[in-house]
Amino acid sequence: MLFSQLVEYYEKIEATTSRIEMTNLLVDLLKKSPPDIIDKIVYLTVGEIYPPFIGIELGVADKLALRTIKIASGRSEKLIREEYSRLGDVGLVGEKLLQTRSQITLHTRELTVSDVYHSLEKIAKTSGEGAMETKVQILVGLLSSATPKEAKYILRIVTGKLRLGVADMTILDALAILYGGGKETREIFERAYNITSDIGYIAKIAALEGLEGIKNIKISIGRPVRPMLAERLSSAEEIISKIGGKCLAEYKYDGERMQIHKKDLDVMIFSRRQENITSQYPDVVKLVQENILADEAILECEAVAIDPETYETLPFQELMHRKRKHEIEKAVEEYPVNLYFFDILYLDGRDLTLEPLEERRRTLERIVKTGDRIYLSKAISTDNPLELEKFFHEAIENGCEGLVVKSLGKEAIYRAGARGWLWIKYKRDYKSEMIDTVDLVVVGAFYGRGRRSGKYGALLMAAYDPEKDVFPSVCKVGSGFTDEDLEKLPALLEPYKIPHRHARVITGVETDVWFEPRLVLEIIGAEITLSPIHRAGWNLIKEESGLAIRFPRFTGRYRLDKSPEDCTTVDEIIKMYRSQLKKIMEASPT
Ligand code: ATP
Repeated sequence: MLFSQLVEYYEKIEATTSRIEMTNLLVDLLKKSPPDIIDKIVYLTVGEIYPPFIGIELGVADKLALRTIKIASGRSEKLIREEYSRLGDVGLVGEKLLQTRSQITLHTRELTVSDVYHSLEKIAKTSGEGAMETKVQILVGLLSSATPKEAKYILRIVTGKLRLGVADMTILDALAILYGGGKETREIFERAYNITSDIGYIAKIAALEGLEGIKNIKISIGRPVRPMLAERLSSAEEIISKIGGKCLAEYKYDGERMQIHKKDLDVMIFSRRQENITSQYPDVVKLVQENILADEAILECEAVAIDPETYETLPFQELMHRKRKHEIEKAVEEYPVNLYFFDILYLDGRDLTLEPLEERRRTLERIVKTGDRIYLSKAISTDNPLELEKFFHEAIENGCEGLVVKSLGKEAIYRAGARGWLWIKYKRDYKSEMIDTVDLVVVGAFYGRGRRSGKYGALLMAAYDPEKDVFPSVCKVGSGFTDEDLEKLPALLEPYKIPHRHARVITGVETDVWFEPRLVLEIIGAEITLSPIHRAGWNLIKEESGLAIRFPRFTGRYRLDKSPEDCTTVDEIIKMYRSQLKKIMEASPT
């Protein structure tokens, strides 16, 4: 397949502001994709070259990309710098300046998708001494054969800024339509995706083996399973009644969720977003090698930073030290972690996700050798709200966020990639006057004035609607930001800037700047109200109204561990609104 054909689709997808049209374009593109490279086409379309768990990223900085444009176009550095500051997008700079390059370098043969993919792969894999020069050479080679339009997309992909806004979920919709015969089969595709986290692989199996092939996909070591997630409630009584009596209540530790894959002495650690974070935790690798009594296993735990002197648990933010590549050894010493195991998904060839929690917990108890630094999550089994409430306070006193209360029924399987009522979280902030914290994605911004001029004064935030795969706005947030946050935000958001409202964003608000939904922030507000301009739950509570968060404030937590699809959902916001109404009704005398 020619790269120019792919580029034609990218142009159309980029121009659309309709989610349905985007899916239709994707269906059409996948139909035309040769099965042997459909996985590669899918990775490129979501702006990657591998699934996230492979842990190899393109990561070419804008500066390096601009250097390649200089060589490939033969234009002056000054001109390139001027264009870059005017256009703010290496892709556009390349497209413009390569239009007028000398005839000699003009492309001699048409690029195929495979040509581009393989060159990008080489760029990603080049490391060590002289890597920069090699990367530049490969990229210059590509740009010399590319048309200006192709160059625009190559440069955007290589710098990690494709910005088409096509997510894995959007691809799943298109696959279900194309290979499943319609959206009704979407669940089957979703289960396969949830246990492999590899959208390219799913596309390839669908293209080669059809729906049957998708049904046969199994859990395997090395491919992370998407996490099971919890619903939330704000009282012990409600939880016991919702869960239907007996439950397993566990401490909700405030750390980083880890999914650990072990095969003999090989250990891989995946984050909540399925990124390979093994290199950040050499100490965890060792703990697992020594204390997990199984040849092959997939386990889940929460890693919590502790003070090496006092053994007290430290806040979640302290794990950020692990993200600095060159200081891991120091972080291991200064911020060691305790592991609290709470689930097991796979053991020695057996998929345990369809077994009830009670069974899984028993297996977990058998294979985790607990001791110093390695524990099972503290848990009690109860059907008594008073006992649950007491355990909740104990958890808070011990530095936890609250509880995750889990169903002990026969149906209590591990539901990969789903937020449901088999797990219910009970957190301290639900008890305050404020509503719960929510995780929202930035979709637009307003320029600041006065003290904030030159920065963003406020951000437009959206929740996620998984049914429609769109991001409806719920508030405009301007408070809670420190001076440091305000300084940092424009640079953080720069890669996601787009010229118009994103096709998957729904709002009645006009902003100064639009973004592809990517950056997730934790927000707390005073209450949820009806709104004529925000679109979450539009028409569901009242005609021509959506739900909005009143007096929203940034809590200071950048949820870099969450993807936009992990944001608080519209359904959750509707539930919060209803429970708030209920509380008001209960409080007011009739
Ligand atoms: P939050 O932002 O509240 O951490 P989340 O969206 O990351 O929520 P939820 O499913 O809503 O995830 O809440 C469960 C989270 O709590 C898990 O993702 C995990 O990181 C953490 N956790 C801590 N202790 C436990 C436990 N014992 N069992 C399950 N999850 C736990």
